[in-house]
Amino acid sequence: MGVISGAYNIALDGRDPSANVNFVSHAHSDHTSGIRRGRSIIASDATKSLIKERYGIEAAGTNLCSGIRLLNAGHILGSRQLYAESDCGSMLYSGDYLLQPSPVAERIEFTKADILIIDSTYPERSVKFDDRGDVTDNISKYTERKLDKGIVLFGAYAVGKAQELISIFNEKGILPVVDRSISRMSRVYAKHCIRLKYASIDENNEALEEATKGNFVGIVSMHRLNELKGKISGFYGKTVFTAVATGFAKIMRFGADAQFALSDHADFYQATEYIDNVCPEKIYTVGKGREVFAQNLADEGYNAFPMDPSLGICSR
Ligand SMILES: [Zn+2]
Repeated sequence: MGVISGAYNIALDGRDPSANVNFVSHAHSDHTSGIRRGRSIIASDATKSLIKERYGIEAAGTNLCSGIRLLNAGHILGSRQLYAESDCGSMLYSGDYLLQPSPVAERIEFTKADILIIDSTYPERSVKFDDRGDVTDNISKYTERKLDKGIVLFGAYAVGKAQELISIFNEKGILPVVDRSISRMSRVYAKHCIRLKYASIDENNEALEEATKGNFVGIVSMHRLNELKGKISGFYGKTVFTAVATGFAKIMRFGADAQFALSDHADFYQATEYIDNVCPEKIYTVGKGREVFAQNLADEGYNAFPMDPSLGICSR
């Protein structure tokens, strides 16, 4: 899927052999498949830094020509929307976006556009996220309660959610212990002026010793939660309570002792708020839930269609 703007044929967060440049909205792996070593990309500096640290790929930048702008998407550090004057009108591609402010991401910006290409992560009306402040409070209260009895281990995505959890715990004066991939990503956050306090479980140092003197909070990559639960419980000889923080906690069970629906995406209702700010004539939905999302938007009176990934937006 792509958009043509002036001399650019831009692939949007993916592979498109006909494109001559890739727009990478942010550094989550489901949006970086089009990156190739040495190939030019359109992305924020923070996204390029995260990609370099995570995948070892130094992506070359592209100068933005007139008619192309990047706007904050609010989703994670460096996440951007792409605005482009295309052959068929002004176009905005949302990428993943979040309306409610996060302490570890730049706040979302809005602009009007004729055509909106919008992410479909939560396409159903049945998913409605609670206020992020309330979810954050619940995470803090749960953690403080369980810390009286043992170690609390959170599973989270290493880029974005892990840093938000660190920030939540820092606010409470807690120094969490994190795994190597989270500490590597958090160092990139520090380079972009989001400074977080944590100790790394993979680096034996004074900070780790101090942080693990009593019961402590750990944050590890989601896929390592069960593996590290056993190791940490065995090593410290204590009960380990597990928890996850992800928007998908609204729709599935994770097998942890607790789960919190802290999302860095919009739900259906926030999506319509976002759409009303953009005020598009036509909407294309992208992603796994695009058919359902387009139908649900059409039911609300929006001019919405699922996007065919093999077509450009001017092809219809
Ligand atoms: Zn994402």
